[in-house]
Amino acid sequence: MPVRKRIVFYLLVFLLSTAFLPVAAAPAEPSALVKIASPAPAVSRLGGVVVQELHSCLLVCAPLPVLPRLRAAGVDFAVLAYPREGVHFFLLRSPLVLPLLSQGADIECRLLEDRIWLLWTADPGFRRYLAQPFRLKALALSGPLAPAAGEIPPAPAPEYEEYRSRPRAARALAKLTAQVSQERLRSDILTLQNFKTRYASTAQCEAAGDFILQRFRQIGLDAESDPFSFESYYQSKNIVAVIPGEIAPERMVLACAHYDSTSNNPLVSAPGADDNASGTAAILELARILAKEKFDFSIGLLCVSAEEWGLYGSAHYARQARRDGAEIIAVVNLDMIAYPGDRQRVLDVIGNRKSEWLADRFIAAAQPLVGLRLAKVIDPSLTWSDHSSFWDQGYAALCGIEDSDNPYYHRSSDTLATLDLPFAVEAVQASLAAVADLARPLNTPAAPTGLQARSQISMSLFSSLKTVYLNWQANREQGIGYHVYRADQSHGPALRLTAQPLAQTSFKDSFLSPAQEYFYVLTAVDEQGRESSYSQEVRDDENN
Ligand SMILES: [Zn+2]
Repeated sequence: MPVRKRIVFYLLVFLLSTAFLPVAAAPAEPSALVKIASPAPAVSRLGGVVVQELHSCLLVCAPLPVLPRLRAAGVDFAVLAYPREGVHFFLLRSPLVLPLLSQGADIECRLLEDRIWLLWTADPGFRRYLAQPFRLKALALSGPLAPAAGEIPPAPAPEYEEYRSRPRAARALAKLTAQVSQERLRSDILTLQNFKTRYASTAQCEAAGDFILQRFRQIGLDAESDPFSFESYYQSKNIVAVIPGEIAPERMVLACAHYDSTSNNPLVSAPGADDNASGTAAILELARILAKEKFDFSIGLLCVSAEEWGLYGSAHYARQARRDGAEIIAVVNLDMIAYPGDRQRVLDVIGNRKSEWLADRFIAAAQPLVGLRLAKVIDPSLTWSDHSSFWDQGYAALCGIEDSDNPYYHRSSDTLATLDLPFAVEAVQASLAAVADLARPLNTPAAPTGLQARSQISMSLFSSLKTVYLNWQANREQGIGYHVYRADQSHGPALRLTAQPLAQTSFKDSFLSPAQEYFYVLTAVDEQGRESSYSQEVRDDENN
């Protein structure tokens, strides 16, 4: 942990240990939680804070004096609740018509849109009144507020075109994905399942966190435990490891998964094999394979806890990252990647509107390497996993998740025996390729040297044609091949001329226009398919 982070962390621990902090602090001034049909661009300017963007509406927290201003501006809104101290607000996704088991519960809920409820309560034990299956996201109405949607600075997307014009190392990605081991995934899922339950707040969940920390350290990674408290009474920890980047280590691609679990009997039995030992095992597999490689940017590997309670671990991490100004380029969250359902072999890649570029890039990097189908889904209402905590902080994030309804979801029967491991292998391969591509694998062989070019123009009665002869020095490394690239202008976009790497150190480029000047560069390719950066450029007649 960097010193600054460490200080912040100890300060937080100090504050938490000296003062009893109710987590569900109400907004500082009397406010209303209102629902506004989206889009509503004026909300932030008029003093409202967007708490949650959904598919069809916005949830906005507005100090009471803001309400008349909204009305005057013609914004159509409905007041849902008046937040006060000690009342917790959640988004709840439930397929049921009413998500409550009994009428007596001190819980209020309102349907916001299809299957998405707003739920609020002062009862910390409210979960016992909810019918499984449900998915919760705790909403932050005060404290370190998320930047309002529309005011979020754009995610620091990598200079994609610049990268694409560099020689790609697609075969290097294939070499990485070939290392994904079904046996390791199986054994890690089994180990996690054997904790019996990983329900956050239990000792077994903490032990599972210790296991992950130990695994990261065995792999040789710098790993830390990141403790946090939630819902006033409980503690758990995220586990985070970093593979430092070689060129710009301050920029990070983050792969994450929650390791906690739940069920209809969570204190006793919650094996959570699909949800989400599968995603956790994927992160461990990414760590094992990627730790041996070098990348331009850092790769963060994050296993979070208390997701099932309301995304508390990821919210803690994402909020802290934003506060520290962390440059997280992209977040790839994996949650349930081993139950494809009957004959369906589809992995959904879920993003919000600001993360659509990331979903596209994930699919572009991964789809050529895997047999399962990657399906892009852009919907801000899909908030029930940890990617949504990163959306709240303005980061680009996506969730890789099986496109099926797992009948064992949130049950004691969610075990390894029900999983489809070959499907999980492909989901891990896809994620591995995308994360590696985003972090830019460093090109290991040295660029070729001594490139020379001569040109010759041959004339006939009807036409004249240019031929260019290239030669260069052989690289010292073993097993090196060469690719030749041509551009129409100096340092312009270069077209690769060689389908396969050349074994020899010369190349002839024929049937060219005598009226045009051409420029050439070379790359070296090693046996792993990793490509060097460009050699020095030559003009076609440089050595005439
Ligand atoms: Zn999950």
